[in-house]
Amino acid sequence: MQYRPLGRTGRTVSMLGYGASPLGGVFGPVDEQAGVRAVRTALDLGVNIIDVSPYYGDTVAETVLGRALRGVDRDSYLLATKVGRYGEASFDFSAARVTASVEESLARLGTDHLDLIQCHDIEFGDLDQVIDETLPALAGLRDAGKVRHLGITGYPLEALTRVAAATPVDTVLSYCRYTLLDRALAAAAPEFAERGVGVMNASPLAMGLLSHRGAPAWHPAPPEVRAAASAAAALCAERGIDIAQVALRFAVEPAQFATTFVGSASPENMARNVRWALTPADAELLADLEKLLAPVRDRAWPSGRPEN
Ligand code: NAD
Repeated sequence: MQYRPLGRTGRTVSMLGYGASPLGGVFGPVDEQAGVRAVRTALDLGVNIIDVSPYYGDTVAETVLGRALRGVDRDSYLLATKVGRYGEASFDFSAARVTASVEESLARLGTDHLDLIQCHDIEFGDLDQVIDETLPALAGLRDAGKVRHLGITGYPLEALTRVAAATPVDTVLSYCRYTLLDRALAAAAPEFAERGVGVMNASPLAMGLLSHRGAPAWHPAPPEVRAAASAAAALCAERGIDIAQVALRFAVEPAQFATTFVGSASPENMARNVRWALTPADAELLADLEKLLAPVRDRAWPSGRPEN
């Protein structure tokens, strides 16, 4: 495993992080025992940062993750969860709700502190509230020793950039924005780095789009992007390689990202993911994929309130 600094936090994290959303059944039914083994496999192979949210599986992912982490040395990994996004279309960034939410997450995760607490998908909230109310409430929890660092997450980079410019945050996380299909996070990263903000990449497989199984029905990508991703998967299959391997390595490579979170509830897939992250891609195949995907590159989809 390779490790990189997480902004100005003083912490060093594995270039591949474990994303726990599949533990909540977000991508399909989950065998809990396999999910627990997936977490342990990731940790055994050197992954030292884990991302989750009360939103994933309506708290199920946090509960399963808490079981998986029972008995693991608490100082051996960084635990990140989120506040503000809950059930379907349910957002609440108020100080009262996020304060209660952190306590609930601590109980589900079986710990007395979080290494990172993030405002989840801020583009669905009022950004002024996030700046003036949510982050100050979380800073109070930091002063009380319940959380160590503060971050924000979301899909549109404009919202993340605006909040990071207005108030100090330790990390930003965006997803599907640095993959074989999109490069926007790499372009935005230098501005975050100048502020000392750690940049975290997520969804290297574009939430399943860049896998042989394909994207789930709820995936927001437009049909032409889905079709191009299927064609890319077929090209990789012809060359005897899983597109997930190429996609994963591509996403983890830039050193400007502290980590890239990949999600899986399968121990076998997590072991493969670690191996793939460390294996350089075939240059010829990569060039052919770049050519094939060029017509749909950077085709972002709308997310959140129009004003954000
Ligand atoms: P991803 O790109 O990691 O894709 C996950 C999908 O790929 C799942 O269907 C999984 O089963 C499949 N997969 C994983 N490894 C595979 C392999 N080796 N072979 C074939 N298929 C494989 O997308 P993700 O899970 O959405 O993102 C990773 C993590 O990033 C999440 O779990 C979450 O922690 C974080 N994230 C955060 C936000 C946010 O804060 N707004 C948004 C998206 C993701």
